[in-house]
Amino acid sequence: MPDTPEGRCACGAVRYRLASSPMFAHCCHCRDCQRQTGSAFVLNALIEADQVTLSSGEVDAVAVPTDSGRPHKIYRCSVCKTAIWSVYGGVDKLRSVRIGTLDDPAALTPDVHIYIRSKLPWVKLPEGVPAFEAYYDSKTVWPAASLERRRAILG
Ligand SMILES: [Zn+2]
Ligand SMILES: [Zn+2]
Repeated sequence: MPDTPEGRCACGAVRYRLASSPMFAHCCHCRDCQRQTGSAFVLNALIEADQVTLSSGEVDAVAVPTDSGRPHKIYRCSVCKTAIWSVYGGVDKLRSVRIGTLDDPAALTPDVHIYIRSKLPWVKLPEGVPAFEAYYDSKTVWPAASLERRRAILG
């Protein structure tokens, strides 16, 4: 992946740049993600908020209901409403950037598959990638360097 990956929304009004590689990548098969995307799963790159810069355009935060009741805001292009990133659980220092909006979405492969209890039956999970029925304990799954970065923002 490039040192400073870039991405954009569908209409091109929003462009953004990541100042570093994401800490971790999720493929989430939960029902919330399926409903919100209208698809089988969502692809999120987890990165510190201060590593995400909007180079053009504006995003609007949209609060969405969740099965868990925890807050979830989706940040969308103010023009075409493409989802660019999410903030889960009110943790503003951590962003989950939609991998499909990157200029090179193939540059990031999911590090983990989560909520596979609601995975669509035709989706075949790759060998050797951790997969969990629901969520997981990042302390046992994330690489040390990413845990260190996470600790730096979340304590
Ligand atoms: Zn999900
Ligand atoms: Zn747009």
